[in-house]
Amino acid sequence: MKQRTLTILKPDTVTHHNCGAVIARLEQEGFEIRAARMVWLSKEQAEVFYAVHKDKPFYRPLVEFMTSGPVWVLALEREDAIEYLRKVMGATDSAKAAPGTIRQQFGTNIERNAIHGSDSPDNARTELAFFFSTSDLA
Ligand code: UDP
Ligand code: MG
Repeated sequence: MKQRTLTILKPDTVTHHNCGAVIARLEQEGFEIRAARMVWLSKEQAEVFYAVHKDKPFYRPLVEFMTSGPVWVLALEREDAIEYLRKVMGATDSAKAAPGTIRQQFGTNIERNAIHGSDSPDNARTELAFFFSTSDLA
C-alpha cells in the first residue's frame, strides 16, 4: 500500500553538506518527494514535535540540537513508506547502525543521527500535518 511519511534532515546533515547525498539515497530507494521545505525550528516547535520524549534525560539536549540550525522537512511517498524508511535509516544510535544505513553513513552518535522518520501511520499523519498543509500535500 502506498503511504506517506515525514522525514527530517537534521541540523548535522545540513551542517555537513549531506542533504543532497541523503535525498539522492532516498530517491534511489524509491521514495517520491511530495513536499519539501527548509525550516529553522523554534524551541517551542521542537518541544512539541518531540513531546513524547519530554520526560527523558535526552529531551533538553535534543531540543537544543534540533534548534541549532535549519533542517529540511520532506513528505515522502512509497510502498510501505513508514516501515521502509525506518529500515533504510537504521538504528537510532549512528555508532551502532547497520552498515549501509543512512544513520550509519551520515550520522555521528545517538543524538546526531542525521535523519528523522515517522514510526507509525498515526505519527506519520500527525507529523506531516505539523509541517505541511493539505494543499502542500495534494
Ligand atoms: N535521542 C538521543 N538520545 C537517546 C535517544 C534518542 O539524543 O538516548 C535523540 C535522537 O536524535 C533520536 C531522537 O532523540 O533520533 C528521538 O528518539 P527516538 O527514541 O524516537 O529515536 P528514533 O525514532 O529517531 O530512532
Ligand atoms: Mg522516534
